[in-house]
Amino acid sequence: MQSFEYVRATGVRDAVTAATTDGETAFLAGGTTQVDLMKDGVLTPRVLIDITRLPLRGVVAGPDVLRVGALTTMEELAADPVVTRRLPVVRESLLLAASTQLRNMATIGGNLLQRTRCRYYRDLSCACNKRVPGAGCDAINGHHRMHAILGTSEHCVATHASDLAVALVALDATVRTSGASGERALPLSAFYQAPGDTPGVEHELRPGELITEVEVPLLPEGTRSGYLKVRDRASYEFALASAAVAIEVTDGVVRDARIALGGLATVPWRCHDAEDVLRGAPASEETYRAAADAALTGARPLPGNAFKVELGKRTVVRALSMVTEPQVTGPPE
Ligand SMILES: Cc1cc2nc3c(=O)[nH]c(=O)nc-3n(C[C@H](O)[C@H](O)[C@H](O)COP(=O)(O)OP(=O)(O)OC[C@H]3O[C@@H](n4cnc5c(N)ncnc54)[C@H](O)[C@@H]3O)c2cc1C
Repeated sequence: MQSFEYVRATGVRDAVTAATTDGETAFLAGGTTQVDLMKDGVLTPRVLIDITRLPLRGVVAGPDVLRVGALTTMEELAADPVVTRRLPVVRESLLLAASTQLRNMATIGGNLLQRTRCRYYRDLSCACNKRVPGAGCDAINGHHRMHAILGTSEHCVATHASDLAVALVALDATVRTSGASGERALPLSAFYQAPGDTPGVEHELRPGELITEVEVPLLPEGTRSGYLKVRDRASYEFALASAAVAIEVTDGVVRDARIALGGLATVPWRCHDAEDVLRGAPASEETYRAAADAALTGARPLPGNAFKVELGKRTVVRALSMVTEPQVTGPPE
C-alpha cells in the first residue's frame, strides 16, 4: 500500500478543513471499500481523514421526511422502525446487500460513494478509463456479463454497485454536504454522473466535500414499495438486475408509481417514462410489461450481456407484481 497521512477528525468543520481540494484526500468511514482499494493500489490518497468520530450517526423521523446521518450503518438504517413501516424499499435494498458483518461496519455515506465492482477497474494490469483517464476499457471487448446496458459510453460500461442508491433515487432523496465553500443540498437524482467522456468523474461531490446527511421523503401511507434483486447467488452478491418500486393503487388503478433500476446501468437509473405508463392504467401484468418495455428503452447491450435486456424487463414486472399482490413472505433475512 502506498504510504499516506492519517488524520482523525473530531468535528465536521475539522474534517472539511483538513481535507485538501486537489483530489488527493479521501474520507474513511466504515472502510469496507476504501481500505480494500488502497491495499490493491487502485486508490492512492495522500491524506486519509478518519471521520468515524464525527457526530453524524442516527436517524430522525419527521412527519414527511427521514433524516439519516451519513455515519449511520446500513444495519442501523434497515432496523429503524419508520423505515420498516414506511420505506420497505429502503430496508430491502439494505438487507439484500453485502453481509451482516459488512452492514454493521458500512455507513450510508460510504455506501452511496462506493466504487464500481468492475473487475477491470480493480485490476491494475487492465486498461480502465475510470481509473486512468484515456487508458481504454478492457471490459468492452472482455468479459462483460455483469456490465451495464443503460447509460454507457464508448469509454466505460461499469455498473453502479450500490443497492441503497437505487432505492433512494426512486424516492427522490437529497444528499446534504459540507465543504470548503459551505453547505449544499444535492438531489440524488442529479448526483450521479453517467461516464460519457469522463468516466473518472462519478458524482457531483467536489474534492474534499463531505456528505453529512441524507434526507429521504416518506412515502404516502398506503403506498406499497419493495426492492427486487436478481443475482447469481442468493446472498453476498451484487445485482445482475434490480428494481426499486413504489406504487399506489386505488380501485385497481395505478395512482402513482416510482421505478429505479440497479445492476443494469452506469448510475442508479430512474425510469420516468415507465412511471408515466403506469399512472392512470389498470394495475395488471399487461400494464407492468408495458412499463418494463419503457424502462429498458435505450438499452445498448454488448454481446456478453444482451440477456440483461429481457432480465431487466422481467425484474420490473416481478417487482411490481410482488408489491401489489398480497404478501405471503416476510422481509429478507
Ligand atoms: C464483499 C462485499 C460485498 C458487498 N456487497 C454489496 C451489495 O450487494 N450491495 C451494496 O450496495 N454494497 C455492497 N458492498 C459495498 C458496501 O456496502 C460498501 O463497501 C459500504 O457501504 C461502504 O461504506 P463504508 O462506510 O465502509 O465506506 P468506506 O469504505 O469508508 O468509504 C467508501 C468511499 O466513500 C467515501 N466516503 C465515505 N463516507 C463519506 C462521507 N460521509 N462523505 C464523503 N465521502 C465519504 C470514502 O472516502 C470512500 O471513497 C459490498 C462490499 C463488500 C466488501
